Amino acid sequence: MIDKTAVSRRIALASIGAGAAGAGVSAMAQGRPPVDLGTVLNGKVLFPPPAASSEVQPSPPRNADAPTQRVGFAIVGLGKLALEQVMPAFAQAKHARPVALVSGSPDKMQAIAAQYGIAADACYSYADMAKLRDNPAVQVVYVITPNALHRQHVVAAARAGKHVLCEKPMAPSLADCHAMIEACRAAGVKLMIAYRMQYQPHAREAIRLARSGALGAVTLMDMINNQNQGDPAQWRQIKALAGGGSLPDVGLYCLNTARAVLGEEPIEVSAQIWSPPGDPRFREVEDNVTFSLRFPSGAIANCMSSYSTHRLARLTLMGSDASATMEHAFDYQGQTLRVSRLTDGKEQAGEIGIEPKNQFALELDHMAQCVRQNITPRTPGEEGAQDQRIMEAIYEAARTGQRVRLAQMPGLDRFRGPEPTAE
Ligand code: NDP
Repeated sequence: MIDKTAVSRRIALASIGAGAAGAGVSAMAQGRPPVDLGTVLNGKVLFPPPAASSEVQPSPPRNADAPTQRVGFAIVGLGKLALEQVMPAFAQAKHARPVALVSGSPDKMQAIAAQYGIAADACYSYADMAKLRDNPAVQVVYVITPNALHRQHVVAAARAGKHVLCEKPMAPSLADCHAMIEACRAAGVKLMIAYRMQYQPHAREAIRLARSGALGAVTLMDMINNQNQGDPAQWRQIKALAGGGSLPDVGLYCLNTARAVLGEEPIEVSAQIWSPPGDPRFREVEDNVTFSLRFPSGAIANCMSSYSTHRLARLTLMGSDASATMEHAFDYQGQTLRVSRLTDGKEQAGEIGIEPKNQFALELDHMAQCVRQNITPRTPGEEGAQDQRIMEAIYEAARTGQRVRLAQMPGLDRFRGPEPTAE
């Protein structure tokens, strides 16, 4: 953010010829009027804030590193998420850049390499992932393949000596999660799970509100992430590749966010699952899931996910003094955050103004900064393993019709690294 006070003071100093080193002064010295031509601060150029909100860039690429100084990423699996969200997001990242590709589709890889200026000798097949070791430009490997393949690709990347960012869900079993964590630990590399919600600005503000007491005591949460999933032949509908249905794919956002809001770990789950009989999409994986998490403070999160209903992604945090609702909560964009409270006996509701930012770019930059500064990611492998542990309990609760108790895990943010910094 620009320090408005500093900027206006600088212009004022320039206009009275006070000898400051700002651009306005040099403008005066050159006989030009003392307009603000930009100030150099810590090696970056700052301009005054835009006059109109319509001039504000949604994601101004301020304080970005020069391309050659950014942390290099290899993208593994060139599917929809990789090509439609992640690769374009590098343009809004400040510290990360794509330098290599791994794919089983040579034609597609060639086309993408040409589009992003990636050298032909930085394009690899899955079988060749060990060769990443010989490419020093690659510091992080980002695994974006179907869920059941995450383990083999994460392990291959770790063995090649590279830090790893892995898409959610981490893997279909806790044993897989542990193997991935162990491979990264043995190789001395970092492992981050791509839980973009924990980097998205509206979600972070909702979490801040809940934890700061601004809503009073938050005792109820409601989380919905529903979509109408199409093709029965897609890997998401095949258990061996997906691990499960709507729960690990979209319900996981509800689970992970509910855990992140208060920072507590749930101590009990109950759940119901129902899939429409005869629908070819649900021969192997589940459709509708509702689950309830009980936290040590007494807070309860009610969550639901669906693969057969119209898209809806919303979260509501209910506190003793106020409630906060985030619409499009788990979508790629379009988030809003609205807070309602009783003030002087009247219900007041208003939207909190939060600058939209590309959450994939924020996530890439966080991983890049963790590598550079040698810090644990906010969402490390252990965070993914904990979600898998709880999802296994959710399936058990639905199967048995009984509540399932979870091991007590005292403390807050037990599995998380430090919060991402602004830069
Ligand atoms: P896609 O099916 O669009 O792409 C997956 C890619 O993986 C394929 O294009 C292919 O790339 C590669 N692949 C390798 N082996 C296989 C295989 N046996 N079957 C199919 N594909 C294979 O999936 P998504 O991009 O939607 O999802 C990929 C991962 O990202 C999943 O883990 C998913 O959960 C996660 N995801 C996360 C989202 C988020 O918001 N964080 C949103 C969407 C997905 P190639 O041809 O290059 O080999």
